[in-house]
Amino acid sequence: MEHLLSSWPEVAEELRDARHVLLLIDYDGTLTPIVERPELAELSETAKRLLEELAHQSRFIVGIISGRALADLKDKVGISGIIYAGNHGLEIEGPGICFTNPVAEELSPVLQAMSDELSQAVSTIKGVFVENKGLTLSVHYRLAEEGRAEDVERIVRQVIGSTEAAERVKITYGKKVYEVRPDVVWDKGKALELLITRYSKEGRRSELLPVYFGDDLTDEDGFRVIKDYRSGISVFVGDESQQSSARYFLKSPAEVTTFLEMLLEQD
Ligand SMILES: [Mg+2]
Repeated sequence: MEHLLSSWPEVAEELRDARHVLLLIDYDGTLTPIVERPELAELSETAKRLLEELAHQSRFIVGIISGRALADLKDKVGISGIIYAGNHGLEIEGPGICFTNPVAEELSPVLQAMSDELSQAVSTIKGVFVENKGLTLSVHYRLAEEGRAEDVERIVRQVIGSTEAAERVKITYGKKVYEVRPDVVWDKGKALELLITRYSKEGRRSELLPVYFGDDLTDEDGFRVIKDYRSGISVFVGDESQQSSARYFLKSPAEVTTFLEMLLEQD
């Protein structure tokens, strides 16, 4: 991976040549530093202003994607008129788009029931809590004692495995979190594909340059879509030595903000 800011001249040229730029950015760990409790992850005033200014330019289509529930994400970011993709893209809302994955919607009541059972089961481990995000569940263990990840995973697998709808959900993991998600072929990459299709003018794909930023395993699906696409810029946020399908990397959310600044200055 190359450092995005160090590769600025070539990246700037690619961006300049595109008629439209679809800028899809993950929230936690990408726009904001990872914090102990998800509700404390605040978007900086600077980043918010930059995103707003970019969204006002007709050349840029700005979207925020996250594992958070759509309503929570909108509330956290607080910018109107942009795209929001919540629950890893299972629910998307924005100019000219309103999408909910139908299978996930149907499974939502089942997940509610699982959420109650899971909450009770993990209450034996201090610092672990279940977040019910409507279409998915997150079991957070960042606040638990070191070395409890395996116990948490065992409990999650046990509880989910013993429910009637076990076959209809899947368990995935991210940074200090296990997630229970509907077992559908849908992820951040599929959401990106949907947005590319939606915002490409009359199928002329070449006019839209997709740019995707993310920091976690679930973002790799987005990076792979960019890789398979004719053009596009994928950026992993985090340690350079990490294995990723992204073309570029940035070290931190602070560097993402710097990039947004450079992008604005260019136009
Ligand atoms: Mg993230």
